[in-house]
Amino acid sequence: MSPFPHLLAPLRIAGTTLPNRMVMGAMHTRLETLDRPTERLAAFYAARARGEIALILTGGHAPVPEGVMDEGGLVLDRRDQLASHEPITREVRRAGGHIVLQILHAGRYAKVADCVAPSEGKARINTFAPRALATAEVWSTIDSYANTAALAQEAGYAGVEVMGSEGYLINEFTASVTNRRDDEFGGSFDNRIRFPLEIVKAVRARVGAAFIVIYRISSIDLVDGGMTAAEIAAFARRIQQAGADAINTGVGWHEAAVPTIAATVPRAAWAGAVRNVRQAVTIPVIASNRINTPQVAEALLASGAADMVSMARPLLADPDFARKTRLGRADEIAPCIACNQACLDHIFTERVATCLVNPRAGREIEFGDGVEPATSPRRVAVVGAGPAGMTFAINAAGRGHTVTLFEAADQIGGQLVMARRVPGKSEFDGLLRWFEDTLTRNRVRVRIGTRVGADELARGGFDEIVIATGVLPRRPTIPGIDHPKVLGYVDVLGLGTEVGPRVAILGAGGVGFDVAEFLVGEPLESTDIGAFAQAWGVDPSIGVPGGVTRPAPFAARRQIHLFQRKPGTLGRSLGKSTGWILKAKLKRAGVTLTAGVTYEAIDDRGLHYTIDGQPRVLEVDHVILCTGQESNRVLHDELLARGVNARLIGGAAEAAELDARRAIDQATRLAITI
Ligand code: FAD
Ligand code: NAP
Ligand code: SF4
Repeated sequence: MSPFPHLLAPLRIAGTTLPNRMVMGAMHTRLETLDRPTERLAAFYAARARGEIALILTGGHAPVPEGVMDEGGLVLDRRDQLASHEPITREVRRAGGHIVLQILHAGRYAKVADCVAPSEGKARINTFAPRALATAEVWSTIDSYANTAALAQEAGYAGVEVMGSEGYLINEFTASVTNRRDDEFGGSFDNRIRFPLEIVKAVRARVGAAFIVIYRISSIDLVDGGMTAAEIAAFARRIQQAGADAINTGVGWHEAAVPTIAATVPRAAWAGAVRNVRQAVTIPVIASNRINTPQVAEALLASGAADMVSMARPLLADPDFARKTRLGRADEIAPCIACNQACLDHIFTERVATCLVNPRAGREIEFGDGVEPATSPRRVAVVGAGPAGMTFAINAAGRGHTVTLFEAADQIGGQLVMARRVPGKSEFDGLLRWFEDTLTRNRVRVRIGTRVGADELARGGFDEIVIATGVLPRRPTIPGIDHPKVLGYVDVLGLGTEVGPRVAILGAGGVGFDVAEFLVGEPLESTDIGAFAQAWGVDPSIGVPGGVTRPAPFAARRQIHLFQRKPGTLGRSLGKSTGWILKAKLKRAGVTLTAGVTYEAIDDRGLHYTIDGQPRVLEVDHVILCTGQESNRVLHDELLARGVNARLIGGAAEAAELDARRAIDQATRLAITI
């Protein structure tokens, strides 16, 4: 019997029988901003349908132009737009899948000058201030949802999802904090929920009984003035009565000060909020957020918290998630590590979404479907089992080459071995396990504990040599740099060297921030749901409006000072969607952030530096260097000196701004060319 009986059980919704309980959640991909957008979107969704996900929810489509996420965003409000949808629904159907169009009116989050809301008042996360809708405009907006649903039906979608969470327009109506209206859509609870109830009724009236209508409810708002658990439950019942076939759950508004999907959030952290909705209704309820393995999903369903699970980012990391689950090959699923680096952070910086783990995501047209066997299999040596070397080896071996992967350390992973020791980065463990299993499955000969030299490579009879030797930490020239107080990040994260209670960290890039987080110490928060709730001020019972309380005080293990030489705010290089979380944690831990310094010396007293021309001394036990990295090309240069050609990838090729995302992308692209 499958270990996933709940996850693999069929479910009937509005006349459609779904083969399992796995839903791909709506994602804004920005694929529509590229050339051939329809073809790209069709290929993207069809790949997931072939991977047997039961139901695909599209990215949000505004029912009116002023409801778009940003300029040029997706709108479906006219019949002449159907031509760009029909190929998508056709391809998904041909692949055996079901696709539902999400209707999303961004309200005061819309990054457009003519954005609208129930009441005036700019969102903290938008530069544009909304205009309050007149009563007649609210009724016409309700009609526009029904119009979009009817168009979706004509385009061949299996249904629509009405997006009522995350702080967008509908949520702005339901919460008193953003709804100060005095007409029939404001004031009392009944009046505030009238807007979504009328939308669901209007949509149902237009599309008939056989078309799926899902409502995405905010299962916990995480903002002051949001709903309580009792209100959410009552609202869910009314949504069912209004005609919804299923309720999907969202978590937190975008402006909430609580992380909701980053790696620092424990897996299935929001199960309690989903259960509250499920207990209130008899239609299927879908859980979402931080569900990234079949095991987590199965446990959630088995516990009775939900009927289905929605996974968005995990379907970027592996389009075949559901198929592998069905076939008993769950351990082959490439895991989403909740880093947000190539998905949300791309979207927030106006780039197209893809995935750190799977660079093919969103680029189905470029990479093609499946693995192209090599025309002439060769013997390939890969040096360095960091993300670049491992990815290259897996992809090259998958194409039929005979690959030997040399690694000097006694384990694979490169710098990811250090990354996973940082609180909130434990998901890297799963990625490293997946790399290890996939190397074995693809029959890569892995030689750990082998610092291979140029002679051995030159004599090895390899047709191709790929150098992925990564980076070496940069050691700045500061008087006293060899003082015993000075440590490198490798000493701290790699070798586990004891660190004293007073610490100066030089360099505030990703590594400097990670070392600071590691040293303040919060080991429980990213795996223990109770500890997470206390740390971020979440009331799991949602007894208070919005479910937010005061975060628990935090006792840092050390006094930490983080420095950079350049002026300006520290942490500019951190990810848009995660940098604020890290900074908030460090603030709570009393870490000081200082920019614009010149390091003068390190001695028995500690760190001597100047700021604004003033000399200062900071008495510390240790000074930790996180001052960037340089390419490790020793082996490559030795090979060149012998006249042996080798290809460079990852940090060995270019250290500046290198991260695992770029290393994996580059390695994948090279592997399909040899
Ligand atoms: P590396 O990971 O440096 O691997 C190179 C490998 O080559 C090493 O294992 C080394 O032992 C081996 N090697 C070297 N010479 C030889 C030889 N002669 N013979 C055999 N083996 C050899 N990136 C992200 O994208 N997201 C993050 O959250 C993130 N967090 C990080 C946290 C920390 C603390 C650190 C240090 C880095 C983090 N990074 C992160 C950066 C990321 O880990 C690197 O960009 C990535 O590992 C570089 O990959 P690579 O394969 O080029 O090199
Ligand atoms: P980095 O981002 O380049 O930061 C290096 C820091 O050292 C900077 O603050 C820099 O600022 C300082 N510095 C540079 N040269 C110096 C010198 N000669 N003397 C003193 N200070 C110097 O590098 P990193 O922090 O080592 O990170 C390496 C890569 O890993 C980055 O590309 C990063 O994206 C990636 N990474 C990503 C994550 C993530 O969560 N996504 C986490 C960790 C690492 P000043 O010059 O102003 O002092
Ligand atoms: Fe998951 Fe990171 Fe890939 Fe986004 S980029 S889908 S968070 S692994």
